Amino acid sequence: MSQIATIHKAFLSSSGVSTDSRQVNTGVIFFALKGGNFDGNKYVKEVMDNGASFAVADDISLQSIKNVFVVDDVLTTLQELATYHRRHLGLPLIAITGTNGKTTTKELVAAVVSRKYKTKATIGNFNNHIGVPLTLLSMDKSIELGIVEMGANHIGEIELLCNIAEPDYGMITNVGKAHLEGFGSFEGVKTAKGEMYQYLQKHNGQLFINHDNEHLKEMAKGIGNRIEYGLTNGVVTGDINCNNPFITINWKAGKESIQTVKTNLIGAYNLENILSAICIGYSLAVDVDDINAAIEEYKPTNNRSQLIQSTSNKIIMDAYNANPSSMQVAIQNFSSMEAPNKVLILGGMKEMGDDCQKEHQKLVQLIEQQTFSAIYLIGPEFENLLNSKPKLLHFKTNTSLIDELKANPIKNSTILIKGSRSNKLEELLEYV
Ligand code: ATP
Ligand code: MG
Repeated sequence: MSQIATIHKAFLSSSGVSTDSRQVNTGVIFFALKGGNFDGNKYVKEVMDNGASFAVADDISLQSIKNVFVVDDVLTTLQELATYHRRHLGLPLIAITGTNGKTTTKELVAAVVSRKYKTKATIGNFNNHIGVPLTLLSMDKSIELGIVEMGANHIGEIELLCNIAEPDYGMITNVGKAHLEGFGSFEGVKTAKGEMYQYLQKHNGQLFINHDNEHLKEMAKGIGNRIEYGLTNGVVTGDINCNNPFITINWKAGKESIQTVKTNLIGAYNLENILSAICIGYSLAVDVDDINAAIEEYKPTNNRSQLIQSTSNKIIMDAYNANPSSMQVAIQNFSSMEAPNKVLILGGMKEMGDDCQKEHQKLVQLIEQQTFSAIYLIGPEFENLLNSKPKLLHFKTNTSLIDELKANPIKNSTILIKGSRSNKLEELLEYV
């Protein structure tokens, strides 16, 4: 038996995987991963004493401990074990990547397909070289369909994640400017995300493609095994017919009559997320009524375009993340929304590398073209861009904006709050 097969046998007899020595339940198999500031090997003895059944370590001095597997590299072993397990289960897998909307799409797809199949999807945002293996290892024989979110901030990462998960179906939500520090340029983003198309082409997998996205079509040129969705072309077509602010959509597939679905989602950009979920569900033979019910019942969480009513204002809370493409669609969507007294609160976009100044400049230009009652910009990224622009109020930190909001509260307004995660814009909620 190979070492991976032996570890897999141990894994199957364990109560689950743990990579955190502080969270070791009885019977788990512990993977002694290394991080910037920690080395899991140091905790192996402790977790075994605390009831772990097995541990996988790469410190040779641990080999005398019973039920500890010493391997060359723990992370690689975790990834290889995930692939081994995925093959052992033999279930169909859908992989989802893209610049924006991966988690929202993954959750919508999971909501739709779980009406027909016992489904397991990535929990939360566990979408990297550790999260993807852990997602695969959370699946068991009862699961009929797996959905794996894949994130990347450098070239080669999606290829690695595809090699680990071996997906049968794949979707890139869109490509935009994000993590430019790691990707180098927008072309770099396309190359990186395109690794999923390359993988599926090589392994006879199937793509789901947004017909309206020129970049994706260019990236998928020559790949035949595809199913498309879009506004007017594709197996599933659909558009928005009402935006109040929750979007209502009309969609149609094949000979079915037009379906109208009221959603709990804000933002026209969610149309592509919804259409892709419908397209995947429809292609996998989920009943039309079940698709509609799943979309209708889905509510976003975690500050992803959530509508919050405070005592004085209506707030569109979108503090989960931001990059130039998601900023642009969110602002344009907000601008076209019918509401009195629209106020914009934006935090800076992080990880922009050399494009930081240019992209914030563009953002300022975009904002200036719209009509808002007030605009508050937070963070050093906006500094030096706002000379002689009295409409735009700049604050160095949340704290200084909070002081302003205490002195001059916003009332009877609709407020869009958006910025990169690390701005922690949710801190403002109490004050608006
Ligand atoms: P992460 O890279 O952090 O995993 P993600 O790709 O999973 O992000 P979501 O968490 O689904 O993305 O959405 C985050 C935010 O991205 C939303 O709150 C919204 O502002 C924006 N967004 C969602 N879908 C789209 C889309 N299709 N196009 C542009 N922006 C979008
Ligand atoms: Mg995500």
